[in-house]
Amino acid sequence: MPKKDTKKEAAPKAAPKKAAVTDEEEKPKKKIKVPKNVRGMRDLLPEDEKYWRFCYETAQKIADQFDFERIDTPIVEPEELFVRSVGKGTDIIDKEMYTFLDHDEHKLALRPEATASVCRAFINHGMFNRPQPQKLWLWGQMFRHDRPQAGRHRQFFQSDFEIIGDASPATDAQVILLTHAFFKALGLQTKVHINSIGLPEDRARYKMELVQWYRARKKELCEHCVKRLVRNPLRLLDCKEEGCVAIRAEAPQIVDWLGDEAKKHFMAVLEYLDELEIPYFVDTFLVRGLDYYTKTVFEFYPVDDEGESAQSALCGGGRYDLLMEQLGGKETPACGVAPGIDRAILAMKEQKVKLPKQKKTKLFVAHLGEQGKRRALALFNHLRESGFVMKSNFAKNALKAQLEIANEEKIPFVVLVGQKEVQDDTVIIRDMDSGTQEVVEYSKIVEELKKKMKKSK
Ligand code: AMP
Repeated sequence: MPKKDTKKEAAPKAAPKKAAVTDEEEKPKKKIKVPKNVRGMRDLLPEDEKYWRFCYETAQKIADQFDFERIDTPIVEPEELFVRSVGKGTDIIDKEMYTFLDHDEHKLALRPEATASVCRAFINHGMFNRPQPQKLWLWGQMFRHDRPQAGRHRQFFQSDFEIIGDASPATDAQVILLTHAFFKALGLQTKVHINSIGLPEDRARYKMELVQWYRARKKELCEHCVKRLVRNPLRLLDCKEEGCVAIRAEAPQIVDWLGDEAKKHFMAVLEYLDELEIPYFVDTFLVRGLDYYTKTVFEFYPVDDEGESAQSALCGGGRYDLLMEQLGGKETPACGVAPGIDRAILAMKEQKVKLPKQKKTKLFVAHLGEQGKRRALALFNHLRESGFVMKSNFAKNALKAQLEIANEEKIPFVVLVGQKEVQDDTVIIRDMDSGTQEVVEYSKIVEELKKKMKKSK
């Protein structure tokens, strides 16, 4: 065994201290840059959770009431799916889609919307062999490289409701009714803006007229509209530039170019809405930014006390009778809607919607000493399993500090265990309002607490 050299052991003791000081002096500590979230992609924080939860639960409730079944499709899809459905010349495809090549050189995209994916899934799984119509709903994130601002994000949530395999105008009305019911259940005041963009042949005739009309006014158009004139003339009607809005007021309206079939369908949808007493506004310039729509298109807007619609739509929807065929499936008429949840929450905050009361934390388990702490966690779990909503703070050992937390959070009862209670197999129940304490047997705690809670209601 080597001899212990105490001198040698003592010597290095002082050295590292000196070296550390020198190191610090010579090399100043590098400041580590904290990574930030990607622009337009937000963290949804706990303080807003009540809104998200309420929206999700409401969507689920509406889906159940209207007999929709849940479908979930992947966030990543072949780029081609959206190019073929949403269409070239649209903002989504030309400017906003997140596309990338994966390791196998496949061209993929983060989904910018859900309808195309639901249709792909419908075809892939032969869902036309199931009873028609299929009523499917979805909830999830969509991605668009939009310019971020209030209510406009690059990652956002949509709920999506699709009725597939039904051509009747009653279905369009049902989708609008469902959307109306969803926003109403969220406590929002809304109005639906509705239009018909007819069948492709109606649209082709209208487009020719529109292009001719706008060409004569080309000099007055903004630079984007000059491009739209060539690439996607219907989008001319969407422009928000002041000059273009003024020109549009005089532009030909698509309703005057609808064939008999589309006109009859549109009138029938409006009659259903009248019957349902859903307030609507026939917006003759509403065309929507996606290629796959036929006949009915609509958007819901939040309205103020005077019934005036706000700037941004809460949802977009419409009929898409040709999309399945466009994707290689059988001809299948369909109609759907995609409410934007981020916008719904923004509108709820603006309209000061009161959320229903959430289940509050009702019990706090406090501990005293090591033995008490060990028992407290088991007690916490026992009470949780018995249906209570639990709160604790095991980082704080001082009873006073634990009681302060319970007090701040207005928790009516604290269940306390210390060494004595562990030995006696008991628990103390402290009524936070009166400050009174009662010792109960461990085995009777659930029963006693239920009694007390009932009384305190
Ligand atoms: P669209 O598919 O463009 O008709 O969008 C349907 C709904 O999704 C809109 O009415 C918005 O509520 C919502 N939405 C669309 N784009 C965004 C975005 N960039 N950020 C937040 N919500 C969006």
